[in-house]
Amino acid sequence: MSEIKSRLAIIIPCFNEELVVQSTVEILLGVLDEIILKNKISEDSYIYLVDDGSKDKTWAIIESLREKYGARIKGTKFIRNYGNQKALIAGLLGVREIGCDACVSIDADLQQDENSIEVFVDEFQKGADIVSGIRNDRNTDSFFKKYTALCFYKLMNILGVKIPKNHSDYRLVSKRALDVLAQYPEEGLFLRGFFHEIGLKTSYVHFDVKPRKLGKSKFNVWSLTSLALNGITAFSIVPLRIIALVGVLTVFGSMLLTLEVLFEKYILHIAPAGWATLVILLAFFGGLQIFCLGIIGEYLGQIFNEVKARPRYIKEKELV
Ligand code: UDP
Ligand code: MG
Repeated sequence: MSEIKSRLAIIIPCFNEELVVQSTVEILLGVLDEIILKNKISEDSYIYLVDDGSKDKTWAIIESLREKYGARIKGTKFIRNYGNQKALIAGLLGVREIGCDACVSIDADLQQDENSIEVFVDEFQKGADIVSGIRNDRNTDSFFKKYTALCFYKLMNILGVKIPKNHSDYRLVSKRALDVLAQYPEEGLFLRGFFHEIGLKTSYVHFDVKPRKLGKSKFNVWSLTSLALNGITAFSIVPLRIIALVGVLTVFGSMLLTLEVLFEKYILHIAPAGWATLVILLAFFGGLQIFCLGIIGEYLGQIFNEVKARPRYIKEKELV
């Protein structure tokens, strides 16, 4: 076992989780103790809770847990609900500031199997900077969520964002990955895409999903749609390119139509007066307009990428 033990932080985003937060924290403290006993992590490992603007007693419970367990419990509270991704980002940047060698994010309802945390730590100590949790199945999800999630990962893959399906926000990331994250100022960062894209050494661990014990899912059709759209638009400009392509195809189609209409007019003599010009102009300008929109879209995509001001590259090493 290595002499210098790693300090582990567990991040829990919480939105109206008064029913589960206490038992979750106590179970996770137990998990930490076990890993500490096995000498894999240091004793000052801790739990960091992000209260995402809960309207119930979540924060009061977090404060009482702090009183009971002292500095092992840390956290922050948002002024309002910003959504799960922002809560996770705040957690990641929060533990980076406090200090840790690695951190794991897990849901407050503990649907993810907490016993995988030790496996994550083992992978980290073998050299992985990111250990991603992959769900074994989606049996605990509703029919709707299961299939929309499937479509989402398929679409993301088609659009060039190759994230593994059944990927989750249950993962371990190293201090090094957190330092990279801190360099990404973009607002709508989609973590599943981000951690996959930065190219640090990643390993995958499969875990079982349990049904939620108490309370309801905090996601609805709208928040899931918004998460999916954000995931796509933050990582891919392919939809903009599709517009340009549709424009080109329409112009091309209008040319074929022109030939056909001219054939009807001059060879078959069946077209009524003025009709040919009208159809040709309509089809041609329709296509031209979409094509121009597509070009604008390309530039918009460039601006979009620039405005996000992502770092152009991350240096791994330097000789100075
Ligand atoms: N969550 C959050 N802000 C939100 C919605 C959810 O911090 O606006 C947290 C929630 O408290 C939980 C995690 O994100 O810890 C996952 O939420 P949930 O279990 O409701 O999602 P599901 O398991 O149904 O996908
Ligand atoms: Mg859940």
